[in-house]
Amino acid sequence: MNIDNAFTLLENSMSRMPRENDGIILLNVPNDVNGDVIHELWKRSCCLADYIGYKVQHEDDFNIPNHVGCFDPHKRSIFIKKQDKYLMTLTVLHELAHALAHISYHTYWYLCVDRIRGEIAAEAVAASLMVSYGGSENVDDSIKYIIAYDKDGYAYKSVRSKIINLAKDLKFCLDGSMASKHDGDVVSSQSSLGVA
Ligand SMILES: [Zn+2]
Repeated sequence: MNIDNAFTLLENSMSRMPRENDGIILLNVPNDVNGDVIHELWKRSCCLADYIGYKVQHEDDFNIPNHVGCFDPHKRSIFIKKQDKYLMTLTVLHELAHALAHISYHTYWYLCVDRIRGEIAAEAVAASLMVSYGGSENVDDSIKYIIAYDKDGYAYKSVRSKIINLAKDLKFCLDGSMASKHDGDVVSSQSSLGVA
């Protein structure tokens, strides 16, 4: 599925989601995705991170409440909590969206300097990519995450075109990673870093 169709599905689901979220999101996505697709997407994501100069790592002491991943643009690191492969893949795509926005700062600066719009963008990009790769149409938890930040419904609309472009950029890169040599194994590391 292409990104435009993925966003149509995502936004249709978003329009049906009640906006009465308390902001605390515990990701609990049913793993109804083909495992091979997820594994390939995970490997390609790690390969893309390498390509843009980021290293994907597991953090042994990952103890940031309610967070399953974070990235540090200064250390060029993406930290992913060890968990279900589907959630790890969704999370690495989310962090890659942050990273790519920072790399193309001149285009996506608003997604870098504004935390709310940055989080909305990263999760919408990750969810649309999951949908586009045919893995899952279950994007409810991603939509809850987006709505928790986009309380009035304005923030998403204000950066919608940037979000879709960012998703297309990322899909283009991931599609080109077919020959990835990355085996998907990432090392553990301890580091203190900010949350994103
Ligand atoms: Zn984030």
